[in-house]
Amino acid sequence: MMGKNQSANIAEIWLWHKRLGHPSFGYIRRLFPSLFANYKLSDFICETCAMAKSHRAIFPLSSNKVASPFSLVHSDVWGPSPVFIANGMKWFVTFVDDCTRMTWVYLLKHKSDVCIVFRLFYQMILLSLTGLFRWYVQIMEVNTSRES
Ligand SMILES: [Zn+2]
Repeated sequence: MMGKNQSANIAEIWLWHKRLGHPSFGYIRRLFPSLFANYKLSDFICETCAMAKSHRAIFPLSSNKVASPFSLVHSDVWGPSPVFIANGMKWFVTFVDDCTRMTWVYLLKHKSDVCIVFRLFYQMILLSLTGLFRWYVQIMEVNTSRES
């Protein structure tokens, strides 16, 4: 049976672990040795600490690149950011063209906005591929040079 004091000690150990920003339990034992009278360090496993220490699998570097722009586009969504990035934006999505390594970053308020951004990005690619984008830029250049 666990005494009242013992369960209070467990609660206090966890409280200090969280309060001090998740230091090792060995460090907490050095600060409060009496709390650990009946416990081993291995009795305490913090899920948050375990997740923070986990690492992403390493992807092997690839020297293969596709021959033409927009044949292959890599995309990643990140968030939610613990702090607002700008104007309430908490997410961002990136598109990386495999051929040119050109990168586009869009800030999002909601993760579900990825669909809207993807449609915009896709429209931009279509304009680029059909040459309309180049035509549009040329028209803009002509217009701005006339203004000056
Ligand atoms: Zn922890």
